[in-house]
Amino acid sequence: MIQPRRCKRQGCQEPPVSTLTFVYKDSTAVLGPLSVKEVPWAYDLCSKHASSLQAPRGWEVIRLNPATEPAGPTEEDLEALADSVRERGKHVAEAPYPPVHLAPAARYGHLRLVPGTAA
Ligand SMILES: [Zn+2]
Repeated sequence: MIQPRRCKRQGCQEPPVSTLTFVYKDSTAVLGPLSVKEVPWAYDLCSKHASSLQAPRGWEVIRLNPATEPAGPTEEDLEALADSVRERGKHVAEAPYPPVHLAPAARYGHLRLVPGTAA
């Protein structure tokens, strides 16, 4: 009887979506699409564990399966970023503007008024 493949993380029963292999001489872990056959030297991982995979110190992870790219910033991260921008904006708004003394020619640069085109 064929057992269904499962994620190799201890306690995880999810179906695998990626296979992790190691290239020891290059200190590289390769996370690719699920292998066709289960092999003893590779680790099948579910999408959650594949996405959260981190390289051990001194190792590099190469991800060849776009479905398991690490998740982007969380809503919490985005709120923290927005708060940071808002806070920075307050300080900029409080700062006095430096006096601007532009000559008319400098203000318009290379633009010229063209007479007689207005309706
Ligand atoms: Zn898992």
